[in-house]
Amino acid sequence: MTAFGIDLGTTNSCIACVDESGRPVVLPNAIGELTTPSVVYFDQREKVWIGRAAKDAALLAPDLAVQLVKRQMGLEGVGFTFHGTTYTPESISALVLKELTSAAQRHLGEPVRDVVITVPASFGVAERTATLLAGEIAGLNVLDILDEPNAAALSYRERAPVQGPRHLLVYDLGGGTFDTTVVRVDGDHVEVICTGGEPDLGGADWDARVRDFLLDTFTRQHPRLDPTADPHFMKELSIRAEQLKEELSTMTSRHRSLAFGGAVVPVELNRRQLEELTADLLDRTLARTEKTIAEARRKGVPDVDEVILVGGMTRMSAIMERLGKLVGKAPRRHEPDLAVARGAAMFALLKQMEQGAGQGRASRPAVRLAARMGLGEKQAEKLGSQRATAVLPRGFGTKVLDINDPLATTNPALARAYVVHLIPAGTALPADTGPVTFHTAIDNQPGIEVEVWEQASEESSEELADNKLIGRGKLRDLPPKLPKHTPVEITFFLSETGLLTVNAVEPASGRQVRFDLQIGGLDRSAVDLARTFVARHDTSS
Ligand code: AMP
Repeated sequence: MTAFGIDLGTTNSCIACVDESGRPVVLPNAIGELTTPSVVYFDQREKVWIGRAAKDAALLAPDLAVQLVKRQMGLEGVGFTFHGTTYTPESISALVLKELTSAAQRHLGEPVRDVVITVPASFGVAERTATLLAGEIAGLNVLDILDEPNAAALSYRERAPVQGPRHLLVYDLGGGTFDTTVVRVDGDHVEVICTGGEPDLGGADWDARVRDFLLDTFTRQHPRLDPTADPHFMKELSIRAEQLKEELSTMTSRHRSLAFGGAVVPVELNRRQLEELTADLLDRTLARTEKTIAEARRKGVPDVDEVILVGGMTRMSAIMERLGKLVGKAPRRHEPDLAVARGAAMFALLKQMEQGAGQGRASRPAVRLAARMGLGEKQAEKLGSQRATAVLPRGFGTKVLDINDPLATTNPALARAYVVHLIPAGTALPADTGPVTFHTAIDNQPGIEVEVWEQASEESSEELADNKLIGRGKLRDLPPKLPKHTPVEITFFLSETGLLTVNAVEPASGRQVRFDLQIGGLDRSAVDLARTFVARHDTSS
């Protein structure tokens, strides 16, 4: 059975598989496009439009559409209500997945079941779990969740096989998000070294600048007309702004005529002007890239060997030029909006190969793909066995009283407290801290409140304000007359699927408390219910 790779993007999604000759190929959607806007439009009860039609409809009726749902994956309590039904981000994503897989199924004439879905390297455990559940709700067998830069690196590797370890800088600028990541590729191993980005920066910001420029040009000539009050005109303007931006990647200058209220204004925009209008946006991405490179250096990567461009926005030539100057190497770009899906398809096939290892010969596409990547069969299998769930982007810890604060012994509730990250950001999953020793704060302490806090910002900090309380348990009935500073051991175990098990024990008495926290995600019955529900939806538009 064919395995598929899916780039479930913030603005666009894409599905690919590896063909008989071992080449990753992208499959077109129902209207022949290679990428599908990740937009769901709720036309009627259980009747939705997905993709281009939904994106267009959303311009006029945004209240009936969900866009950019990826930004809400893994957040608790988020719901979208249409025609009397509430959908979770997982269910909305499942509808997009269903659209992609149904089109692939029709195109190939065979069922789509086994998939690898990609996520940004910055996604936390909750977001990854939510993505996996979206796949399950769509009725798919999710072989794994793979980091987007890893997928891009694999895709690049298929095109330019190299020997020995390489460090790749992946610069990914899509329609709604920006990520920059350093990835190490070494034989049968691909690994994220560090990553950073701006989740709310993307092509849409460039479009907005072009739209404002067009509007400005019009109103300067006709100050008494107010086209912003006309939703149809504004919809057209948004579509034209994006088109103009895209055309200026291949042409140096473009013309448009804007017609409103009986007035017609011809407008010209050239590439240099576009670059000036959006220079600060590009600067922001470059500043973030510098930070990522500096972080990689601190982690022992002296230099990046290659720069790879991913995301539709990197077709803009200014990006290639400025980034090339910054890093001192010419970036590589090859169909940047399809690379992630292609890499995911390769990984899906290798994963299948590894899972079926020992049950007969590897499939022909798998053997050919391995050869294209310059790998032997065993190495390819090993690559497939690699845990794709990468490192923890944000740490987990527990709250501790500051014993240097005099209030710690007299009035602990008012004393300064801070967070000790037992599982710091960057730890590979599954993670087991083993027992970590803390101490009671006062004499005769009757119990201990074990609070679990998750790092809330990109930088790690021990301040409570920079962390988020996500759960707690109580170690009760400690033996009487315990002196202060009695040791208490706390262990955190975090599984790959986001189940955090906390254990606290007072070793002398053996008193202990153990509790589990699911970091994000729906429970099983909710997933089953959502799967039945999503399957009922008519997605033909
Ligand atoms: P992605 O999220 O990777 O699919 O990228 C989508 C973004 O890339 C959108 O903002 C598109 O307008 C933009 N894009 C696509 N093609 C081009 C192009 N030829 N030149 C500039 N931007 C483009």
